[in-house]
Amino acid sequence: MKKLTLLVLALLTGPFGHAQSQAPGPTTILLRPAAVFDGQDRHEGWAVLVENSKLTAVGPVAQVTAPPGVRILDLPGLTLLPGLIEGHSHLLLHPYNETSWNDQVLLESQALRVARATVHAERTLLAGFTTARDLGTEGADYADVGLKSAIDQGIIPGPRLLVATRALVATGSYGPKLSVDEDVPQGAQEADGVDGIIRAVREQMGKGADLIKVYADYHWGPNGTTQPTFSQEELSLIVQTARSAGRGVVAHAVTPEGMRRAILAGVETIEHGDGGTPEIFALMKQHGIALCPTVAAGDASAQYKGWHKGIDSVPLRIQQKHTSMAAAVKVGVALAMGGDVGVFAHGDNAREMELLVSDYQLSPLQVLRQATSGNARIFHLADRGHLAPGLLADLVAVAGDPTQDVAALRQVRLVMKGGVLYRQP
Ligand SMILES: [Zn+2]
Repeated sequence: MKKLTLLVLALLTGPFGHAQSQAPGPTTILLRPAAVFDGQDRHEGWAVLVENSKLTAVGPVAQVTAPPGVRILDLPGLTLLPGLIEGHSHLLLHPYNETSWNDQVLLESQALRVARATVHAERTLLAGFTTARDLGTEGADYADVGLKSAIDQGIIPGPRLLVATRALVATGSYGPKLSVDEDVPQGAQEADGVDGIIRAVREQMGKGADLIKVYADYHWGPNGTTQPTFSQEELSLIVQTARSAGRGVVAHAVTPEGMRRAILAGVETIEHGDGGTPEIFALMKQHGIALCPTVAAGDASAQYKGWHKGIDSVPLRIQQKHTSMAAAVKVGVALAMGGDVGVFAHGDNAREMELLVSDYQLSPLQVLRQATSGNARIFHLADRGHLAPGLLADLVAVAGDPTQDVAALRQVRLVMKGGVLYRQP
C-alpha cells in the first residue's frame, strides 16, 4: 500500500508542481485506445483528441486529424470512457465500521474531517470519478464549499463537485439522538415553517450550495420508526425557493409517503427509495424524477451489523430493497448511479455499479451509461458524460471492456480531468 501511495504522489507532483505557476500539463494530446465508450456505445479503433481542457475530435482513427507535433498516447488493451460521475457521496464522512456516524458528527473536529476529506477527494478522482454530487457534510457545516474551492484552484486533486452543504431536516427528526436533556449538534440544519425554511434554503445557497438536500422522512423518536418529516407545504416551499434561484432539490426518502410528498413538491432525484411501491415509482416516472438507489450503502451497513453475505440469510431490509428495485426497474424509472459513498470507503465508488450488476440484474452497459451520460443528464451537466467535440476533457481509461465486465472499472490506468493527467500508464 505504501509503495502505491508514493507512486501516486509522484504522478501527482507533475501537474500540481506546475499548477500554481504555469498552465498545467500538455496542451494537445491524441489518445489512441483499443476502444472508446462514448457515453452510449463502444467503438473499436476510435481516437480522442484533447486540446487544452476540451475534447476537439472523437471518432475513427482515420478521421481524427491531429495537428503536427501532437503528443500521441497509445493505450493498447484499454477502453477510454468519459470521466465517471458519482451521484451520491459524502466526502466529509468515512466508513461507519471505522467510526460510528454519531461519533464522527459529535467527536471529530472540523479540521480532522477536512483533512480526511482531502484524501477522500484524491481517492475518488484516481478511481476514475471526475465529478461527484456530494450530498451533505453531516455536521461539518460548509466545509464542502471550501473543499470544492481547493480542488477548483488546483490546491488538492479531486473531482469536480456539486455540493449540498448542510442539508435540511425538520426539527426533532434527525440525529445524533442522545439524552432528551441535551441538545447536541445535529448532522444537518433544522428548519421549519415558512420563514424558517425560506431563510435556511437561502442561507445555504448564499454560502455556496449548488443544490439543496432535504430529508423527507427519517427515524422519529427514541426507537427510530421512519416517518415523513416535512409537510407537503414545507417541501413545496423548499423546492420553490431553491428553484427561483436556479437550484434543484434532492430528497432523502424511503417511505412511500415521504417519497410521494417529495415527488409532488418537484424534487429532481429521490435518494434511497427503499420502500417505494409500484404506484410511487409510476408517479416518479410521470413526474420525470430519477431514483438514486444507493444499494451499496445498504449492503455495507447490513454487513457492519453482522450480516455474513453469502453465508447468512438475506436480511429483511435487503430483501425489501430487492423488491422495490425490481418494481422501479419494471416501471422504468430513470436510475441515477450513486452509492452513498462515505458509508463505505471513498475510492471504492465502483462498488455500487458492481452490486447493481451482481445482485440487481442490471447489465454492465446499463450501469456504465448511468454513471456517465445518464447522471450528466439527470444532474444537468451538459458539458460532460459523453465524448464529443466541445465537451470537457474528463477521461478515464480502464483495462478490458467495462461494457461487458463491470470488474474492468477496478483496472483504472488513466485519469484526466480538464485536460490534465492525474494518472497515466
Ligand atoms: Zn447519503
